[in-house]
Amino acid sequence: MPNMRSDKNPMPEQAADVRNKNFLEVTTGYTVEMALDEAERCLNCKNKPCMQGCPVSVKIPEFISLIKEKDFEGAYQKIKETNALPAVCGRVCPQEKQCESKCVRGIKTEPVGIGRLERFAADYHMAHVEDKIEIPEPNGKKVAVVGSGPSGLTVAGDLAKMGYAVTIYEAFHTAGGVLMYGIPEFRLPKDIVQKEIENLKKMGVDIETNVIIGKTITIDELFEDMDYDAVYIGSGAGLPSFMKLEGENLNGVYSANEFLTRINLMKGYKFPEYDTPVYIGKNVAVLGGGNVAMDAARCAKRLGAENVYIVYRRSMNELPARREEVMHAEEEGIEFRLLENPTRFIGDENGWVSQMETIKMELGEPDASGRRRPEPIEGSESVTDIDTVVVAIGQTPNPLIRKTTKGLETNKRGCIVADEETGKTSRDHIYAGGDVVTGAATVILAMGAGKAAAKAIDEELQGK
Ligand code: FAD
Ligand code: SF4
Repeated sequence: MPNMRSDKNPMPEQAADVRNKNFLEVTTGYTVEMALDEAERCLNCKNKPCMQGCPVSVKIPEFISLIKEKDFEGAYQKIKETNALPAVCGRVCPQEKQCESKCVRGIKTEPVGIGRLERFAADYHMAHVEDKIEIPEPNGKKVAVVGSGPSGLTVAGDLAKMGYAVTIYEAFHTAGGVLMYGIPEFRLPKDIVQKEIENLKKMGVDIETNVIIGKTITIDELFEDMDYDAVYIGSGAGLPSFMKLEGENLNGVYSANEFLTRINLMKGYKFPEYDTPVYIGKNVAVLGGGNVAMDAARCAKRLGAENVYIVYRRSMNELPARREEVMHAEEEGIEFRLLENPTRFIGDENGWVSQMETIKMELGEPDASGRRRPEPIEGSESVTDIDTVVVAIGQTPNPLIRKTTKGLETNKRGCIVADEETGKTSRDHIYAGGDVVTGAATVILAMGAGKAAAKAIDEELQGK
């Protein structure tokens, strides 16, 4: 008889007024007892609706059944069959919009905590089991991967398992993409990401950091001078968008990308242990309503800001960040200024931002995106004292690769055009996937694209 408790086992976490002063992980994970109790809520449905919500088709009822049987390593291996990074996905996937949104337990009560169970199995594995790395027989073919985010890591892992000699070229000094430079330590501990990267290296994947494809080497040179048989572009969407407002170039105005990179990758939060401080004032405004904005706001609070505002031009209903992140941000003292939009930034005599003018908004008719269009309410302007502004309104792919690779088709958003099923681009032997194709999206979609491309590259190179 399944456990019919109506709500998910709550996730243990640090108290809000403690965690908003440290960078340790907010949630601490299920205990064995909690995981067993939660697994018992699963009805093991024959038609597996939850699986249909998972972009990489994790065998959800099967892995949960293994948890029920206390075969935690078996559960981990079951997830691993289709998902290369369970510890990452268990933490950052938007399960509420994916698997858990389809769970039948969610019709009347709360869905099964699938993500929490995935994380439990992955953490159990990490704490108790030594990874067995099998070194595959080389097949004589070489593939270059541009970018070491979730998409690049997935394609590299799958190809290496098939015997390809894979080299990942990464622009930054550390591999991992957004998992390292964007998502903060308190949501995704960096040793989890580095362990996966170490495993890839043990499998023979070569990772060359500080190499900018399109500058240090071009894609054509990878083929002509270095004899690669195929190239996969997983370079993400790292170019920040700005609001193009008066005063946006004042000191103290950051893009979220720069702000988070300084904190996470350059370890700004460990100053003075790391000599890379990040300037934070007393009053911080973060512009935008996605996960990036939540991460920036919560970092600012942890670095000592007294007042941190999320300024978003629509209402809470349209706010795109994960609900869990919004709730955590609210608990940590982040103030949501909804239906409000900045109109200009005002500087002091030294060129630092000191004030932000905003205008109140109201929602009109739906726009092309289907969301109600925010419209300014005339005469509702007001001014707030601000020392730091973080612009988190979106990112697009960096133009470098498209500008230096002739014949590579891109769309008007600057994304590479690639076949959804295979990742094939307009250029022979060049594949692409992840955010560089979709625009800013999710970890799991980037991984799914890497997986599909690995299969297609293998089929092409083996003449299947
Ligand atoms: P990236 O992760 O962007 O990796 C691309 C890599 O390519 C980078 O390391 C970059 O340095 C490198 N690169 C770029 N150009 C070159 C070049 N010319 N030469 C060599 N290397 C290059 N998704 C979720 O699912 N859940 C979340 O909670 C979530 N939170 C997020 C929070 C933040 C702050 C951000 C920024 C994103 C978040 N996302 C989240 C989105 C998710 O991280 C991305 O969709 C995902 O990382 C995309 O993976 P990718 O491999 O395509 O690219
Ligand atoms: Fe279990 Fe929910 Fe999936 Fe049914 S839909 S198998 S209850 S997780």
